[in-house]
Formats: sequence, C-alpha cells, structure tokens
Amino acid sequence: MTDQREWNIQLIQQIFSSDTAQVIINLDIHPREEESIHWKVNNTRKFSVKALYKSKIENLYRNDQTTRDWRAIWNLEVAPAVKNFLWKCAHEILPTNAKTASILHYIDSICKLCNYGEESMTHMFLNCPAATEVWQQMLDGNHGLFDHHTVFMDWFNDWFHNANISHNVCIYATTCWFIWKARCDLVFQNISPNAKNTTLSIQQHLCDHNKIHKLHFYALNTQGHIIENESHIATPETIFGIQQHKQSFGFLIKICTIQDPSTYQFFSALTITDFAGNYVDSRGHT
Ligand SMILES: [Zn+2]
Repeated sequence: MTDQREWNIQLIQQIFSSDTAQVIINLDIHPREEESIHWKVNNTRKFSVKALYKSKIENLYRNDQTTRDWRAIWNLEVAPAVKNFLWKCAHEILPTNAKTASILHYIDSICKLCNYGEESMTHMFLNCPAATEVWQQMLDGNHGLFDHHTVFMDWFNDWFHNANISHNVCIYATTCWFIWKARCDLVFQNISPNAKNTTLSIQQHLCDHNKIHKLHFYALNTQGHIIENESHIATPETIFGIQQHKQSFGFLIKICTIQDPSTYQFFSALTITDFAGNYVDSRGHT
C-alpha cells in the first residue's frame, strides 16, 4: 500500500498471480481505519486451528452423498467408547488385520482368533467361531439376525434403517464392541478369548448401563438373552422378573472383617449382590 493509502498495484501484480492480484486491488481501503488481518472462517475473526479443521472437514464432506446421519450413532444410549468404536466401523477404518494388511503389506491378514480366514469386519463379528459362540450365547441358540452370506457393513447399516432390528442397536453395538475387545486382548495381551466370560461381561455391562442411565426399555430376557421380537421387550415391571431369575448370571459375594480397637473383637459381614449390583442378601457375625 502506498503512503496515500492506495493499493500499490505494480507491487501487488509482481507478487501475486493475476487472479489474486485482481481480488486484492478490488478490495476497498478504509481511509481512517488501521489495517489488520481477519480470519474469515469464524466469528471471532481470529485464527484458530479448531476453526481451520472444522472448515476443512466441512469442505471435505460437502458433496459427499454417502455421508450418513452421524447423529444416529452419537445419540445412541451406549457408552462413549462404544460410540467411538461404531464411528470407526461406519468409516470402515477399524484396524482389523485385513484392513491394516491392505495398507502395510508385511502385516498378516489372517484372523488370530481362529487362524482361519482373513480378519475382515464380516469375519470378526459374524463368521469367526469366537464371535458366533458369543452370538449363540447372547441369542440363545438359533437366530435369524444374519447368516453366512451377510456382509457386516450391510447389517450395520440396517441397524439404523430397519425397524425390525433397530430397537436392539445398543445391544448389537455393545456385543460387537466386546468381541473387538476380546480380539484386542488376544492380539496385544495374549489373553485367550472365552465366549462365556465375554457374554457375561456384555450382559453385566448392559445391565449396569441401563441401571445407571435409568433406561426404560430392556431388550434382554430374564436369562440375559437378546429379545429379537420388539413386542417382547421387557417393561420396567418385568425387569423385576430378572431379580427372581438372577441365578442365571451368578452372584458377587463380598466378605469384610474388621477389628474393634478397644475390645479387640472381630466383626465379619458378608453381602451378596447380583450381576447388576442389586442387593440380594447379607449376613453379619461377631
Ligand atoms: Zn477368526
């Protein structure tokens, strides 16, 4: 800019391309205001990495016709870790061996749980024997949720669009997350998967989550199996039925012993809770 507060057109044309130079020259110059740099992508007019990132992401997905309704995932009544897991599934970026091997060719794509078959999401969640055992226990034997021809991403997308199964999305999502966790335990900690323990963990997690968040629906029956038919979802009244059948999941027994410092007398207490932390019974003894 010149001392007369006019654009130095010659200098601008030297530095910038003709298009950019023309844009600059067309800008009005305020005769009395000081010059300052304004960042146009946010309201504060100040640069921030957050605003830049948001702008880039919005541009990236502006014309993306396949972009799903992400709120369907973020609004699910599941733990935040499960939502993050679902987000990766939806983007098909879960680092299964097949996915990693497609980028890093020295990685073995075979499933470490069964050592048979490529570890894709379809194999890991639907076809791997380790997964089918968990589903069988969660669904109590035969089920019509999926078969050997089902592609995981098709089924996953159905969760959010098919009214016949959408009522159980939280349970399917949590079950897949635990299958993935069991797989990671084997790969990273060499802990062998145990379908029975995994199933029990899923049932306990779901019960705890429902209890903490006071959810009104409960799509497990009294034995902890998934209820596939929406009309049979338990009401709050039938949840009490679970307490009458709590032996299906086992008990948690805690024993506490303390000593009175003045009399040196010992006191022992035993409390029994069910899988969801509900009080079952207690005993005291001196
Ligand atoms: Zn496998």
